[in-house]
Amino acid sequence: MQCQMCKAESIAMQSIAIPFKSLNFQALKTLVNDTLVVDVIVGNEYLYRDINDSIRQGSLTSVYTNELTDATQYMLQYTAAQLKNMGFRDEIRASGPSGITLLPGGERDIKGDGKGSVNGHIVVVLSSDLTARDAARKLAHEAYGHALFFILRKDPNHAEDKARGGNQELEDQIQRSIEETERNYGDVKPSRSKKIKRDH
Ligand SMILES: [Zn+2]
Repeated sequence: MQCQMCKAESIAMQSIAIPFKSLNFQALKTLVNDTLVVDVIVGNEYLYRDINDSIRQGSLTSVYTNELTDATQYMLQYTAAQLKNMGFRDEIRASGPSGITLLPGGERDIKGDGKGSVNGHIVVVLSSDLTARDAARKLAHEAYGHALFFILRKDPNHAEDKARGGNQELEDQIQRSIEETERNYGDVKPSRSKKIKRDH
């Protein structure tokens, strides 16, 4: 059996390669120092509390496909080059709901998704289908975005019902956390010629 906590821990470490100047490290410190417990789980199924106080099961999934290859299979009238010009990307990307943050009392938050945590903890669930890099990106989104804002008593929701950018502060935080995670990944790529910057 795989140790889910170890896996989650290693995902967290990947997102904070440069601790002291790191926004993600500061976010992680805030999460760890709070009295609320944050569980990070890697798996495709999770339990949540709904508005009627019932405990239900939700699921995550992540499917990796090449958008351009897919398009060539259902838009047969075009060549791959034409489809590429039309904006279909020739890269493998994940799709599907691949992560969620369940907050204590989230089931009663009218601005949220109606799902709350069942154990009074903040529960971050990451799909086990994600690659390590995408899991680190997703962790940045869920933990250093949604969970952090909840702990800081800021609005932790995307505000999807409003015009785009309804919760700009959250969107900015998520974007910066993901960018940092990507930079950290870039820094630890096996290209030995590149000097890895470290702050001590
Ligand atoms: Zn989100």
